[in-house]
Amino acid sequence: MRPVLVLVDRTAADGAVCRSAGALLTLARRLGPPAAVLCGPPDATAVALLGRYGAATVTATDRPELDEYPASARVELLSHLVRRTGPVAVLVASHRLGQEVAARLTARLGSGLVSDVVDLRRDADGPVAVQSALLGAYRVESRVTGGVPVFTVRTDAVEAAAAPVQPAVRRADLAFPPGVRAVRRIARRPAGAELRPGLATAAVVVAGGRGLGSQRSFGLVGELARALHGTAGGSHTATELGWCPRCDQIDQVGTIVHPRLYLALGISGSVRHRAAMQHAETIVAVDRNPAAPIFELADLGVVGDVHRVVPELLAEISRRKATR
Ligand SMILES: Cc1cc2nc3c(=O)[nH]c(=O)nc-3n(C[C@H](O)[C@H](O)[C@H](O)COP(=O)(O)OP(=O)(O)OC[C@H]3O[C@@H](n4cnc5c(N)ncnc54)[C@H](O)[C@@H]3O)c2cc1C
Repeated sequence: MRPVLVLVDRTAADGAVCRSAGALLTLARRLGPPAAVLCGPPDATAVALLGRYGAATVTATDRPELDEYPASARVELLSHLVRRTGPVAVLVASHRLGQEVAARLTARLGSGLVSDVVDLRRDADGPVAVQSALLGAYRVESRVTGGVPVFTVRTDAVEAAAAPVQPAVRRADLAFPPGVRAVRRIARRPAGAELRPGLATAAVVVAGGRGLGSQRSFGLVGELARALHGTAGGSHTATELGWCPRCDQIDQVGTIVHPRLYLALGISGSVRHRAAMQHAETIVAVDRNPAAPIFELADLGVVGDVHRVVPELLAEISRRKATR
């Protein structure tokens, strides 16, 4: 059977396989046997995790070019594997690097790309990619009509499901042509506050609303976001009151967020606010009104005063960081 190539992300900090791999492999299984493509050594932990989500094979390439020239080297590696294995499709995570790799790979293959895919299925004519549009009001289905389809996947929208197998581990040895050296990564370091992830792509979003009570107290929102390495935002009202810049307004006409973790502090949960954050993977809300509509959405609700709950949370976070 033709495989489905899945480009696996590893964390910058310790090289561990990112959680996104589980979601990518889960969707890949709907199209055919997943073939995980691992940049770096095939250590036992990485292989076990990929096997847990059904990777039939793990092809590892441990070459410095993949670190130094991340986009072009990945394009080179994937096009080499496409030529060698003739896959049903190629899946990559839908982040900045993934988007670049996918676009360049598609141009190289002369095929078609569907981005920000939230679901995949296969019918008699091949893979069908599903995108979510207009705040989730529409599901758009597309098919690539020529060549090997390339899909970028919004992994935060996919629930990873385990399907354990024992993967066959292979190594791909290829010579990278001089062309991959066009753009070299010269440094990678933790971002300061000025380089925090944008709201729309942040994995952790802490949002504050009228319940904070004052601009001064709204500082708690930024403080908690920093402690969680996340990004701060605010409700329409918080913006209207001048506590939060307009560009950080989370609502239907502002920024739509889909983080892994969304913390709502003193936000009632109006329809227009919910439309912009309801796709968060996990929602935690703090509000002193137990009947606040935000609790209908929340996975975890804390009925309490933000001025008490947030400082306690900050203290607990720094206590845990200190004992790690
Ligand atoms: C003219 C107009 C235009 C509007 N345009 C928009 C728009 O473009 N986009 C939009 O999203 N909305 C809009 N709205 C609606 C409104 O701004 C939204 O409902 C907004 O999201 C509400 O913000 P909020 O949740 O911060 O405030 P509220 O709805 O007032 O909620 C505050 C919450 O904080 C809680 N709270 C209070 N004190 C504390 C405390 N000490 N500790 C814990 N919790 C506390 C309260 O129980 C409450 O649930 C508009 C409204 C008007 C009147």
